[in-house]
Amino acid sequence: MLNALSPPWVPPPAAELSRLESLVAERPAAALAELDGLLSNCPDHAGLPRAQLLRLRGLARAHGARPLDGLGDLYRARDLLAESAGAAPEHLQARCQVERALSVNHEQLGSYDSALIHAEAALQLALRLGDGLDELNARLSIAVLVSRLDRPEEGLALYAELEPAYARLGQTRKRLAVLNNMGINLKNLGRYEEAATRYREAKRLAGEDALLQRVLGANEAEALASAGHCEAALAVLEPLAALLPAPAGPVLAQLATARGLALRGLGRWAEACEVHRQALLHARELGLRRAEADHMLGLALAQQGAGLHAQAFASLQSHMALERALFDERGAQRLAALQVQHALERARHQAELHRLRHVELQGLHEDLERALADKDRLLAQLAQQSRTDGLTGLANRRHLELALAEVCAQPQGLVLALLDIDHFKSINDRLGHPVGDVVLRRLAQALQAQAGPAGYFAARYGGEEFCVLLTGASLPMALAWAETLRADIAAMVWDELAGGLSQVTLSIGLAAFEPGEAGLALLTRADAALYRAKAQGRNRVQA
Ligand code: GH3
Ligand code: MG
Ligand code: MG
Repeated sequence: MLNALSPPWVPPPAAELSRLESLVAERPAAALAELDGLLSNCPDHAGLPRAQLLRLRGLARAHGARPLDGLGDLYRARDLLAESAGAAPEHLQARCQVERALSVNHEQLGSYDSALIHAEAALQLALRLGDGLDELNARLSIAVLVSRLDRPEEGLALYAELEPAYARLGQTRKRLAVLNNMGINLKNLGRYEEAATRYREAKRLAGEDALLQRVLGANEAEALASAGHCEAALAVLEPLAALLPAPAGPVLAQLATARGLALRGLGRWAEACEVHRQALLHARELGLRRAEADHMLGLALAQQGAGLHAQAFASLQSHMALERALFDERGAQRLAALQVQHALERARHQAELHRLRHVELQGLHEDLERALADKDRLLAQLAQQSRTDGLTGLANRRHLELALAEVCAQPQGLVLALLDIDHFKSINDRLGHPVGDVVLRRLAQALQAQAGPAGYFAARYGGEEFCVLLTGASLPMALAWAETLRADIAAMVWDELAGGLSQVTLSIGLAAFEPGEAGLALLTRADAALYRAKAQGRNRVQA
């Protein structure tokens, strides 16, 4: 209830909204605090102004690395605008902006197809508005998304129309962005020389801007080196080193990528190793995990060239582990976005159901209930799949890591067991991969049968390795359990399942949790114990 003395609520004026718009891009945390305040005073029935504020908060959350929360705001803004449907230009404009923000948000979450749907909706609204620049911007988003969806030719055709259009409107920055994006698509198509030309054109438009000169120069050099013009690539990079301020963050990583590539092309392996190693450390420090993975691969290739084969192999393994982690993360993010979208849809449908119940359209009502239940089931299934190993049905490594972090945070006994099949490669080699798969599945069953009833958590750690979290167990208990498991597996009869296979054995490493220890440290100690079990002749348990 409004206090009689409090001033009536007034919508924020246009100048205030545009100030907030800039603040959102520059200092999202500060913008978020202001917007929270404004929204808590803004009445629910204030259609357009409330939608504007929700859109800005959605964007602030997205810029502040909380794109999922941002989606909630943006969908609410869209609903508000749909309810107060109007054809006034400012109404259409707000709808266009909300669609664009939804597109940006989905893009950040890696759901490019959802992002494309919203960008296309923004384009339709811009066309109705008749605003040339809004229209071009919507077309640019579409071109970017089409490119990200692995349709580079289509993206190129769209960019080729946009470039002169932006030039006509005197939009130099946008034109430059388009040229840069064309370069990216050409590079992805293996048309490196054409890519280098586009980057060079963009660089000409960038003027004195040191950051842009570097980004575009790095791109140009990378394209040149990919085309085999490694000396030319180094010549492009050289003057960039003198620019001020000194480069940092992602740009530094990008410059190093181009330099490393050119040096490798020239067979200057030691220098290439050094460039990638430095860039790798820098990327790790800043948490730039994509760059870290890329430079790890660059380092592996440079070490290979230098004849350091063992080091190259180790770098390659690290690279693969980084790639796997990035892949898992993206999957989890996409799933979370889907869950939010579904929750919002559900709320919308519930409201609709409520209305239908009222008018007693029973049939329709039941259809909707069924559709919702189906979707609930599907999403639960998806969430389950993202935690499960496809071959064995055990928990996968991601799930294990989450479970491990959880138990490590609790003060109770825990022993971690790492299990590795002995000479598994030779089973594959002699009897074929499908038999290897059968063995993995059967062993997983046996493992689950012994771990499940005791309340222990069993997972496939990777390849032919498994992991069990023995919660509540002391080391002597765990040793006894592991020894029983080892003996049972060694005594299993395989003839029926896999002819020609007489015995399968496991080596097991155990480590007891020490309070305060991180999950990774515990895993490392179990791995060392497993290594000892292997070294001592396999088919045994070590702690
Ligand atoms: P060790 O006793 O030292 O552990 O020797 P190993 O042969 O078991 O170990 P190594 O790490 O050399 O080989 C593991 C093999 O596991 C290599 C890989 O092809 C196989 N492998 C990994 N994942 C799967 C899978 O999903 N199915 C099958 N069939 N084989 C797999
Ligand atoms: Mg192994
Ligand atoms: Mg093995």
